Amino acid sequence: MVEKEKKDAHKVERLEIIRHSASHIMAEAVASLFPDVKFGIGPSTVDGFYYDFDLPRSLTPEDLGAIEAKMQKIIADNVPFTREEVDKKIASKLFGAQPYKLELINELPDKTVTIYRQGSFVDMCRGPHVNSTGEVKAFKLLSIAGAYWKGDEHRPMLQRIYGTAYESKKELEDYLNKLAEAAKRDHRKLGKALDLFSLHEEAGAGLVYWHPKGALVRHEIEDFWKKEHFKRGYDIVYTPHVAKIDLWKVSGHLEYYRDSMYAPMEMEGLSYQVKPMNCPGHILMYKSQLRSYRQLPLRWAELGTVYRWERSGVLHGLTRVRGFTQDDAHIFCRPDQLEDEVVGVVEFALFMLKTFGFDEYEVMLSTRPDKYAGTLEVWEHATETLKKALARLDIDYEIDPGEGVFYGPKIDISLKDSLGRTWQGPTTQVDFNLPERFDVNYVGEDGAEHRAVMVHRTVLGSMERFMGCLIEHYGGAFPVWLSPVQAVMIPIADQHSEYARKVAADLRSEGIRAEVDERSERMNLKIREAQLQKIPYMLIVGDEEVGSSTVTVRLRDGRNLKAQPLSDFKKRILSAIETRSTTI
Ligand SMILES: [Zn+2]
Ligand SMILES: [Zn+2]
Repeated sequence: MVEKEKKDAHKVERLEIIRHSASHIMAEAVASLFPDVKFGIGPSTVDGFYYDFDLPRSLTPEDLGAIEAKMQKIIADNVPFTREEVDKKIASKLFGAQPYKLELINELPDKTVTIYRQGSFVDMCRGPHVNSTGEVKAFKLLSIAGAYWKGDEHRPMLQRIYGTAYESKKELEDYLNKLAEAAKRDHRKLGKALDLFSLHEEAGAGLVYWHPKGALVRHEIEDFWKKEHFKRGYDIVYTPHVAKIDLWKVSGHLEYYRDSMYAPMEMEGLSYQVKPMNCPGHILMYKSQLRSYRQLPLRWAELGTVYRWERSGVLHGLTRVRGFTQDDAHIFCRPDQLEDEVVGVVEFALFMLKTFGFDEYEVMLSTRPDKYAGTLEVWEHATETLKKALARLDIDYEIDPGEGVFYGPKIDISLKDSLGRTWQGPTTQVDFNLPERFDVNYVGEDGAEHRAVMVHRTVLGSMERFMGCLIEHYGGAFPVWLSPVQAVMIPIADQHSEYARKVAADLRSEGIRAEVDERSERMNLKIREAQLQKIPYMLIVGDEEVGSSTVTVRLRDGRNLKAQPLSDFKKRILSAIETRSTTI
């Protein structure tokens, strides 16, 4: 096991070196096509590499082919990479025509600069690189994007070329296939094709409009979510979307979170703030009466819509938005109840993920950061409690030192989708800060007031991000219980429509979402469209089916089932719905 890990680590290092070397080769290729190029930086990334260029014109996808051809030539020439250490002055002269490199040289604390040459091309870099260009055996340029120099929107916008490289052609091919599959499953594309949701620049970027079909999926999720909360002793609450600015002063959001908030609104001389979080609202309700230790824990859940300001550059479909609904809950408990509560939350979150078809996940425990609220003692206790809870659940986890929120440690669960990609998922956070700020107490057995412990948690994340993840995980083919249309009747000819309508009505009376495709189109076209719409069951009816009161079932994956009595089909679909099966 240890041996394998060592080998894996070595492989990762080797890959980084290959990729980073490929970025140098790409830079040389770009320079040969655009002699006036000004170079930014060119690191390796988790999936490949990039290099930023300042060029006299905008690159087009066709340019990538020309750059790749030049790169192939440089690789075929198998030119060695050579390392030199030069005085900063010499380096400044060498990179005299390169303003971005000069800026980097001036920022270096050392007297000397390391430069690397391959052929006549020279770049400043710490290395390491492959010995010679011929060692880059499998690469591909992927895309072009704008990127501000040093990520600063006040600095020039450069053109970034993304590429990737692997040790072998086979590995590269596998990766490119995975990319193509991911592109097919892109939730922005499928969201449109399946008519699930839309975003409207003219109404504000990052704000989601849920169309009937998307709203139906969300409704099913929310309905299930609420029932499961009631089962686990939660209460559902609702709180307003705006509150006077004073509330956000007390909570500390105004001080620590302002950059992520929409600006306040002035009304009749008072300032109101659209909420970036639901917590203060729940605290107000908690404090509406004196709480006894006997009442605790209180578990209050809210599908709370919040608004946060994100820069336009980072917005992305449903996964980075400016308005979203958290599947939020706050648990108010006594310190001695914390462990059981955390166990309950993590168990709940894993149950939810499993139900939605996510069997693989990673668990991270984030501990005390440098800047923190509360005492060391309280932190120690809470962190130990989280560890104990995870141990009780027999869950493997990693520790992310110092990555907790300033107000307390947290457990994050990220889910793995069907393509092996990870998505940010449920979170459980202990909070010492808000109970202090709002003076959140309970009356103990001793008759004195004690500070309550507060836990913030989600078991999905947010409805928007979870939906985006769900769409890509299933490639739009939702499990039956979530499918907006669960069965579509396809009459072969007009004279079969009446029977089709009767069957559909029968299915609907059982709560099954059934429709009839009565358009005067060919059957094959209707089947193809239903398949594209990822409708799990197509029921084809013609003379034979009408005569024998049966239905012929075709599944969206292309499988055909024999003609069967309607009651048999009903059994099948109702069982898929009731068990929330992920197969049809
Ligand atoms: Zn380098
Ligand atoms: Zn909260």
